[in-house]
Amino acid sequence: MTNPFQLLGISDDVVNAVKDLGFENPTPIQEQSIPVLLEGTNDFVGLAQTGTGKTAAFGLPLLELIDFKVNKPQALILCPTRELCLQIANDLKNFSKNIANAHVVAVYGGANIMQQLREIRQGVQIVVATPGRMLDIIGRKAIDFSNVKYVVLDEADEMLNMGFQDDINDILSTTPDDKKTWLFSATMPAEVRRIAKNYMDNPIELTMGTKNTGNVNIEHEYYIVRARDKYAALKRIVDFNPEIFAVVFCKTKLDTQDVAEHLIKDGYNADALHGDLSQQQRDKVMQRFRERNMQLLIATDVAARGIDVNNVTHVINYSLPDEIESYTHRSGRTGRAGKTGISICIINSKEVGKIRQLERIIGKQFTKAELPTGFDVCEKQLFSLVHKVHNVEVNEEQIDQYIPRIMDEFKDLSKEDVIKRFASLEFNRFLEYYSKAPDLNAAVGDDRGERGERGERRGRGSEGYTRLFINLGSVDEFTRGDMLSFICNNGKIGGKSVGKIDLKGVFSFFEVEDDVADKVFEGFKSVEFNGRQVRIEKSGDSGRGEGAGERRGGGERRGGGFGGERRSGGGGGYRGGGDRRSSGGSGRREGGNSGGGFRDFSGRSRDEKGGSREGGSGRREGGNREGGSGERRKKW
Ligand code: AMP
Repeated sequence: MTNPFQLLGISDDVVNAVKDLGFENPTPIQEQSIPVLLEGTNDFVGLAQTGTGKTAAFGLPLLELIDFKVNKPQALILCPTRELCLQIANDLKNFSKNIANAHVVAVYGGANIMQQLREIRQGVQIVVATPGRMLDIIGRKAIDFSNVKYVVLDEADEMLNMGFQDDINDILSTTPDDKKTWLFSATMPAEVRRIAKNYMDNPIELTMGTKNTGNVNIEHEYYIVRARDKYAALKRIVDFNPEIFAVVFCKTKLDTQDVAEHLIKDGYNADALHGDLSQQQRDKVMQRFRERNMQLLIATDVAARGIDVNNVTHVINYSLPDEIESYTHRSGRTGRAGKTGISICIINSKEVGKIRQLERIIGKQFTKAELPTGFDVCEKQLFSLVHKVHNVEVNEEQIDQYIPRIMDEFKDLSKEDVIKRFASLEFNRFLEYYSKAPDLNAAVGDDRGERGERGERRGRGSEGYTRLFINLGSVDEFTRGDMLSFICNNGKIGGKSVGKIDLKGVFSFFEVEDDVADKVFEGFKSVEFNGRQVRIEKSGDSGRGEGAGERRGGGERRGGGFGGERRSGGGGGYRGGGDRRSSGGSGRREGGNSGGGFRDFSGRSRDEKGGSREGGSGRREGGNREGGSGERRKKW
């Protein structure tokens, strides 16, 4: 039987490679674009969502059109982020693995440029690049684009949103006039239209799905909660979905770190991804997420852009994006490769109007969902456990030797009793945590009189906590996760005892529970960091103005939106509950051992952090622009 990719005009070598990747049938976008692009004679505009098979849609025709006997750049693919760049390059390498002498290079900021230059010098036919680094290399006269026949602008809307317009102009001016340009974009704002008009000659335009429409495989839901209940609502949603594998979006780097830290402390398998992390840290986080060693990736829009991780079950909008169109990109992290997914918005009652706007943009209705009650969560968790017990793979060989003793231990219990006890082992913990769980659903208008999330934080004090000054901060390459580990390791206290961490430039403030403050002082008595004596003081002892010269005034952060919930909740979610901690703190160790926010930070070596902060020469790439460049984008 002829392979459907062959029918579209793809050659055997490439067909065999995609077969190895498990591609049996072309996706709709591939079916539509491949025959058109294979002609190689037209400019092209493809309006397509991410996750639809876009890379193969342009990648397979490119491989057919390139002359691999010639070792010169013939195709240039520009994309907005390093992650996407690596992904595309990797896909193309996989697609071309059976083609002799095929060379693909990925060129992106935040990585060693010498290595990239070396690869280019050795000869490549396909260059996949982010604009900042590409321009850098062009500026060094290290690449010759005079043989380029095809330019692909992938996620064009995102590139423009990130301010790459001028860079793209400059890069394209170094390519021949008669090249063909293929542009892909998830949305079609006026700026992308303008690009199509300025750079292209009568492009063939294909719309895969309806314009600006979200992926049909994604269900959209929203929950209305009071601003102060947002974090509790997030936990409840996660608890109600024991198999969740989700990306949680926050608006700022600070919120991202906050939410991740609190989830980790509460025993969830989570970590943060944002632009304050070094490239190495971001890679580690992504690797853990890809390998499913982490359940919840808490990310900013910029950091998560272009991430292609299959089988993400949920996207959670912890905060709605500043720009309406970002919603399509966020929700596109789920429902990929034909799978279904759920995109959830946790909003306050004043934001219902925004949901209506989103419905108009994506052309789909949102379902108003109710947060489950504590009882619902317990039931769900219980049966998840029951199913796990039922389906667990039994290692007969290993367990057999213990069976007689186990049977002996249970000899006075009936089968029913044993089952009851196994189930209760976990269930009691859920029950304990959720027995007094309040109804978190808020009605429209419930937010009246509330000061909003920020105002709420500001108003709350940190009762029971001592605020301390430390002479280390972000210039020492500390993230908040690092600082937390540093405090815990040296102060010999658990993460639960640490309140807000206010990371400044050359110093920071952090809170610890009053009754462990002395222990922390003791622990830090002779700690050095990079040859420097680490000093901690009670905040105010030094006469240092807390907010002095710092935009994020200490006062604002003190209360901490999550601290309240955590403290009043008597120590976090049930996942981080007493049992687990007393049995060795496995909840927390999860993060630590796998290289996430809780690395072993003893205060002596920081080698693992690597030198380069992201950005490097690719100045606009990565997280620097988190928070949104925005101007050209449609605001709410
Ligand atoms: P993309 O939109 O190119 O990022 O692709 C999204 C995901 O779909 C990637 O994980 C691809 O490997 C996968 N994919 C692309 N085309 C196919 C296909 N024809 N069959 C199965 N999976 C595919």
